[in-house]
Amino acid sequence: MNTIFDKIISREIPADIVYEDELVLAFKDIAPKAPVHYLIIPKQAIATLNDANLEHQALLGHMMLTAAQLAKDTGIADGGYRVQMNCNADGGQVVYHIHLHLMGGRALGT
Ligand code: AMP
Repeated sequence: MNTIFDKIISREIPADIVYEDELVLAFKDIAPKAPVHYLIIPKQAIATLNDANLEHQALLGHMMLTAAQLAKDTGIADGGYRVQMNCNADGGQVVYHIHLHLMGGRALGT
């Protein structure tokens, strides 16, 4: 499935990209829910966390470590932040290309 995130990866549509390497891309969420709200996505399209398997283990770990590094880079690491992945309709997933939300810069509550 070709999602809007594939179009961001291929630069067909613009995004405010904050980090890129051979495996992942990170960019600002278009509708931020916190002062820092980045999305970390794999360049490889995986629709949902349900579709991930052992082959993707290192990639998923790399996404988490990228989130932590971006939190440090933006100065929110010590105060704290949230990393979230939504899965399917009940989980609130809207874009079917897995992504981590990195949110911080204010107290997020429960
Ligand atoms: P989710 O509900 O977990 O699938 O999250 C999808 C996220 O993608 C939402 O927070 C949207 O605001 C964000 N989003 C959708 N389109 C774009 C876009 N073109 N650029 C940046 N963020 C986007």
